[in-house]
Amino acid sequence: MRVALKARRRAEPESQDRETRTNWLLHAPIEDLFDVRMTTICLPEPAQIHESLVCDTCGEALMATRVVQRDGRTLCTPCSEEQDG
Ligand SMILES: [Zn+2]
Repeated sequence: MRVALKARRRAEPESQDRETRTNWLLHAPIEDLFDVRMTTICLPEPAQIHESLVCDTCGEALMATRVVQRDGRTLCTPCSEEQDG
C-alpha cells in the first residue's frame, strides 16, 4: 500500500491562521489529506548467508565466498596478495 500526502487538499482552509489550520488538519477526513493506493512492489531476493571463516594469517573473519585457499591455508584477499608479492 502506498500512502502519500496530497499536494492539493480539498477543503483546505485558505486562512493562514495556525489554529484554524491545525484544527482543520486534526479533523479532516483522512482521504482529504492522503492519497492511499494499493500497489505491487518487487522486493529483492533475501541476502544469501554464507559460512564465516577466519583468515589463518590476520585472524579477520570473512565470508566463505571471499576466502582464498592456498597450500591448505585459509586466507583473506589482502593476505593472499601479500603472500604473492
Ligand atoms: Zn588475512
